[in-house]
Amino acid sequence: MAEQRRRKKKLRKCKLCEMKVEYVDYKDVRLLREFLNEKAKIIPKRVSGNCSKHQRMIKKAIKRARQMALLPYIEL
Ligand SMILES: [Zn+2]
Repeated sequence: MAEQRRRKKKLRKCKLCEMKVEYVDYKDVRLLREFLNEKAKIIPKRVSGNCSKHQRMIKKAIKRARQMALLPYIEL
């Protein structure tokens, strides 16, 4: 039995680099939401495939958006 243990290919590329995003706006809730999981937590970069530069931007923007009540802290 030739069982191939293939790892699921995860997206390795940083989406924001692909989109050539230079600045993440905290008001861009739709974009930010893509980096939140169903519990409104920030998806770690090893999962999302973001580079650290953009991950940092995302983190900052999400924090800001939460302060402005644009994003929830916890989603139930
Ligand atoms: Zn990037």
